[in-house]
Formats: sequence, structure tokens, C-alpha cells
Amino acid sequence: MPVKLYTGEGCLAEHGWEIEKYGKRFLILTGRSSASRSGALRCLLSVIGSFGGEYLLYDRIGANPPVSACAEAGREGAAFGAEAVIGVGGGSPLDAAKAAAVFLANPSIGEEELYSRAWPSGPAPVILVGTTAGTGSEVTPVSVLTDSKGRKHSIRDDAVYASLAFGDPSFTYSMPRALTLSTGIDAVAHCVESWFSKKATDLSRAASASGIRKIVGPLSAVAAGGELTPDERSDIYSGSLLGGIAISVTGTCFPHNVGYYLTESRGLSHGLACAVFMEDLLRFELGICPEYASALFRDSGTSFEGLSALAAGCLAGSAAEEISMTEDEIERVLPRWENAGSVKNTVGAPDLNCLSGILRNHFLKLR
Ligand code: NAP
Ligand code: FE
Repeated sequence: MPVKLYTGEGCLAEHGWEIEKYGKRFLILTGRSSASRSGALRCLLSVIGSFGGEYLLYDRIGANPPVSACAEAGREGAAFGAEAVIGVGGGSPLDAAKAAAVFLANPSIGEEELYSRAWPSGPAPVILVGTTAGTGSEVTPVSVLTDSKGRKHSIRDDAVYASLAFGDPSFTYSMPRALTLSTGIDAVAHCVESWFSKKATDLSRAASASGIRKIVGPLSAVAAGGELTPDERSDIYSGSLLGGIAISVTGTCFPHNVGYYLTESRGLSHGLACAVFMEDLLRFELGICPEYASALFRDSGTSFEGLSALAAGCLAGSAAEEISMTEDEIERVLPRWENAGSVKNTVGAPDLNCLSGILRNHFLKLR
């Protein structure tokens, strides 16, 4: 994991001087308001001002960012003469920053070349400042975007790793309860899915297990209506970065890919969409490799019941139509997962028949 990563409260103010190593002119990508509300943008601009840097702010990155917005931002950045891209926000602005860095270095390429990775020049340097504790995008070589057909479609390439990232938990204090739950459960999903990836290693498993240990206690307290202390916020953020490190090695499993469909079709937030299938993955793996599944519960201090209850607690505020599918719909969309990497990557690699059974069991049980 080649990212130079600073963590802990105050880390951007303390180590932000490193940003100057990447130039004097920056393209900054944010969402509409959270970069300001969280305090992250103010801190970043003060750091850039301290060394006389200049910036162009592109503050129109919404959830599930479309490639078109990344291209527009990257081209505006190129016209401005930006030398590096800084993403400030949750996973959406951070992922958009990785793609905008490709367009900044290659303003004339289109969506097809972005995805085929036929980039005449390597991306501009990327610097990331997180404001949610969930995706781990700060430390992954992945940018999840929405393509021109409206599908969530990722780029995975070592060239889009950030050069520098800041995981300052104080920027997550402004997250409301629902966002804390939806982003926190995404991080737990990364840890769990990474464990059940065919590519898991001793080190990725250590990151997964310790990520779960850090997150499950405080996130369960939030699901039960509790408030978080700064130390607990910090634990959840660290856990999300551990989850990001784990999926950098392994990628994710079927819940992420099937969850993308729920986000596209219902607008369900990414983390909740993955939470829908967490219990199904655990049950599937307990059937395939019970000892290996038990080792996850032992190493992370959790259980099948505990993780399933946490996912259910996070989903408790979702409307039934957001988290259910009819039998017809399942059959209609199933072919999209025939060659999906994260389905094949799942230990036990469920084929379409098996996946159909998992989804039918899940959704019919809900009725
Ligand atoms: P997000 O889409 O970045 O942000 C969701 C909402 O949270 C936005 O309305 C945002 O407001 C708000 N927000 C962000 N930080 C806040 C704060 N500190 N206080 C108050 N509100 C705040 O959410 P996310 O869950 O972090 O990212 C999800 C995206 O990441 C999905 O597209 C997902 O597929 C992707 N993802 C990427 C990876 C990876 O490895 N790259 C892994 C998993 C998921 P503003 O709009 O004002 O900013
Ligand atoms: Fe995720």
C-alpha cells in the first residue's frame, strides 16, 4: 500500500506542509457542503495558503459520481494549470479525485479510454482528505464511478493510489447518525468480504480482523441510539482504513457487486446496499468453510449473530422497497453477475444458480 498516510486528530494541520511537494497549483474536488461543514476545507486552504499555493475549487461532486463530472473537473484543472488533484470528502469526492487526475493529465481522452486504462500519460498526483469513516478510498487503488449507462463501474489500477492521504477523525464529527451507520457498515463489509476473498493473505486477514474489532463495538452503540466519543470516532476511522488496506490486497465479494444494483435502482446508499447481503455471505461461507468462518469470528471478537444484528440495525431505518427485490427482478438482473470479478473472487464462487438461490432465499424471507 504505497500511500503516505497520516492519521489522528489534527494530522492535516500538522503534516499538511507535505502537500507543497506536489506543486503550487491544485485542483480541489469536494461535494456540495460537507467539506466546509466538517472543517476539512478550511484546514486545507489554510495549509495551502501557508506556502502561497493556489487552487481551483470544483464543488459539484455528488454521490456515486458520474465519469462526466470527473472529466469536466479534470479538464478545468488542466486549463487552470493544476499540478495535482486534492479530493476532500467521503468516498465520492475521493474516488472522483482519482479519475479527475487521469483527465487532468489526459484532457482529451473519453470515458472508454478511462475504463480501458489506455492513458497516454499517467495520472497527476492525488492527495486525499477523508470526511467519512467508511470507504477506505484514502488507501485503495480503486475509483468507483457511474458510467454513461448509469451503472456503477470501478477502475482498479495501482496508478490511482493517492500519493498522500490524511485520515483526521475530527472531520467525521459532523456526520449525522444515519451517515455514521451507512458508512461504518461499508467498512465492516470491506473487512468481512476481504476475509472471504480467494486472494486473502495472512496480512490482509490481520487487517480485516482488527478493523472489525475497532468498529463493531462503537457502531453497534450508534445503531442502538448511543452517541460516540472522539476516541470511538477515531476507532471507526482507523477500522475503515484497515478495511481499505485489506481490500487493496483482495478486492470485495458478491455483496458489493450485488449491492451496486440496489444503489443504481433504488438510490440506496452504498454501505447499506452492501449490508443487505452481509448475513447471506456469512451463511454461505459457514456452509462452505465453517472453520475458516469461525476463525474470522474468533480473530475479530464477533459472531455470526453479532455481525448479522449489526447489519440489520444499520438497515432498520430503510424502507422495505429500498431493500427488496421481486422474483422476476432477480431473474432479469442475474446475468449481469455472470462474469463479475467480485463474485468469482468469493471463496466458494457462487455460480448464477447459487446466487439466484441466495437472493431468492433472502428476499422471499422478507415477505
Ligand atoms: P459520499 O457519497 O462521499 O457522501 C455521502 C453524503 O455524506 C454526502 O451528502 C456528503 O455531503 C455527506 N458527508 C460526507 N462527509 C460528511 C461529514 N463529515 N459530515 C456531514 N456530511 C458528510 O459517501 P461515502 O459512503 O463516503 O462514499 C460512497 C462512495 O464510495 C460510493 O460511490 C462507493 O461505491 C464508493 N466506495 C469506494 C471505495 C474505494 O475503494 N474507492 C470503497 C467503497 C466504496 P457532500 O455532498 O456535501 O459532500
Ligand atoms: Fe464499499
